[in-house]
Amino acid sequence: MSRALERAVQERVAEGLVPLNAWARLLLEQFGDPRTSGGSGARAVQKVLVQRTDTLRLLTTPELDDFLRRVGDATAKLINMESYRRRRQFFEAGKIDCSWMSAWSRRFTDYFEIYKLLGSKNFAEACRLIGEQWRSFVGLLKAAKEGRLEPWQKVRPPGYRKDRDGQRVPIVVVRYDNYRVDLERKVIRLGYWNVSIPFKGKPRWLTKPGAKQGRLIITYDPAKKRWYARISVEVTLEGRLGGGLKAGIDLGRERLIALVTEPVNESGEGVALLYRGGPLKSDYFYFERKIAEVDRMLSDPKLEEADRCVLKEVRRRFYERRKRRRDQVFANAAAHLVKMCLELNVGALLLGYPRGIARDKPGKGNTNLWSYRKLERRIAVTAENRGIPVFKIPEDGTSKVCARHGCEVVRKPRGLVRCPYGHAMHSDVNAAMNILARGGGKVPARVRVRSFIPTASGVIAANEKKRNHNPA
Ligand SMILES: [Zn+2]
Repeated sequence: MSRALERAVQERVAEGLVPLNAWARLLLEQFGDPRTSGGSGARAVQKVLVQRTDTLRLLTTPELDDFLRRVGDATAKLINMESYRRRRQFFEAGKIDCSWMSAWSRRFTDYFEIYKLLGSKNFAEACRLIGEQWRSFVGLLKAAKEGRLEPWQKVRPPGYRKDRDGQRVPIVVVRYDNYRVDLERKVIRLGYWNVSIPFKGKPRWLTKPGAKQGRLIITYDPAKKRWYARISVEVTLEGRLGGGLKAGIDLGRERLIALVTEPVNESGEGVALLYRGGPLKSDYFYFERKIAEVDRMLSDPKLEEADRCVLKEVRRRFYERRKRRRDQVFANAAAHLVKMCLELNVGALLLGYPRGIARDKPGKGNTNLWSYRKLERRIAVTAENRGIPVFKIPEDGTSKVCARHGCEVVRKPRGLVRCPYGHAMHSDVNAAMNILARGGGKVPARVRVRSFIPTASGVIAANEKKRNHNPA
C-alpha cells in the first residue's frame, strides 16, 4: 500500500469506517469509500493474502508418543525458564522483555541441552514464540487500559506450561522450513529429528494452490488423549470486487444478526435475514447457573484445599464448554449468513457497532454477554474466505430513527418500532436498514423476511410471519 493510500485509509477510519477484512481494505484502495463510490465497476478476479490454521489429529505409536513427550517437555521447560526470568523482571523492575533474541543468546549457556535436542531452527522458533507471547501480553495491557477486554479475560503475564499437578505440559514447535506435510502418504515429516508422524484428515488450507506453510505446533489434549498438529498457512484467496448489492447488518441480543439487502428486484423489495439469539441465550444462562452453584460451594470457608482445587477445575470446564458452544453457534450463523449473501449477490457487508453494548462496562447484566467482537470477527473472516468485503460503521441512533422517513420511532413491545407515518417494523430490521443507508446503500421499500435459528449443531429455518412490514 502506498503512503498516500495508507493515509486515505486512515482518514476513512477516523470518519468511522473500519475495513474488517482483506477484501474491505482492497476495495477501499481501489474504489474508495463504499459509502460514496457505490462500488460499481469491473468485477475482475482479485487476490489477497491471509493467514489461516489447519488442525490435524496425529496418529501416534508408543515410540512417537515418547518422542513427542521428550521434545515437547524440553520446549515446555525452555518456555517455563524464560517465563520465570521475564516474570521476575516484570514484577521486580516493571520491565517487559518481548525479544526472542534474549532467549536465543542463552543457547550455549542456560539452554544448551534443550538447544541440542531441538536443533537451531526449532530452538529459534520456540524463542520467537516466547517473544510473541510477551508481545501479546503488552497488547492485552493496552486493551485493558482502553476497556476493550471481554468480561472473562484476565491480563496476566505469560505463565508456566504446567498442569494442575505441577507437571509440564508438552509443546513441540517446528519452524516453517523444518517439516514437510506429505498429503499422499498422510504423514508429517520432521526434518531435524528425521521422524515421520501419520495424521488423520485433510488440511483445508494447505491444499490450496500457492499455500505457504508457516510454524507447526504440536500439543497434547489430555482429555481426548490425543496429539494435535496446528499448521499456520499463508493462503491466497480469490474474489471479485465491486458490484453486487450492499447489505446492512445489526448485531443484537434477541436477534443475534439482522441483515437487510438493497432492493433485489424491480419493485424495490429487499431481503431481511434474521438470526435469533434464543438458543445462545438459554445456553449462556444454563452455564451461568452451573457456575454460580460452584461459586456458592467455593465460598464455604471450611472447604478443604483439595476440594477447592477440584471445584475450580470444574468451574474452568464450564467456562470452556460455554465458550466452545458459543463459538460453534457463531461459526454456524456466520457460515449460513455468508452462504445466503452469495446467493443474494451481496457485494459488500456493512456492520454497525452494537448499540450501547460494547461501550458498557464488561461483566454487568446484559453487557457484552454474547461477545459481539467475536461474532463480528467470525463474520469478517468467513466473508473473507468467500470474497466478500466487510466494513464496520458507527450506528449511533440507528434504532431511534425510521430508516424510510428519517423521523423518530416509538418503541413497542415484542421488539417492534412504530413510525409516525403509520408503519411498524422489527427494531433490528430498522437498525440494519439505517446502517445500510449510512453505508450509501439504497433502502428497500419493502422487505421479505427470512428467519433462522442458529444452534451449536446447525442453523434451522424458522417460519416467521411477515409482520414487520405490514402497514398499520
Ligand atoms: Zn417511517
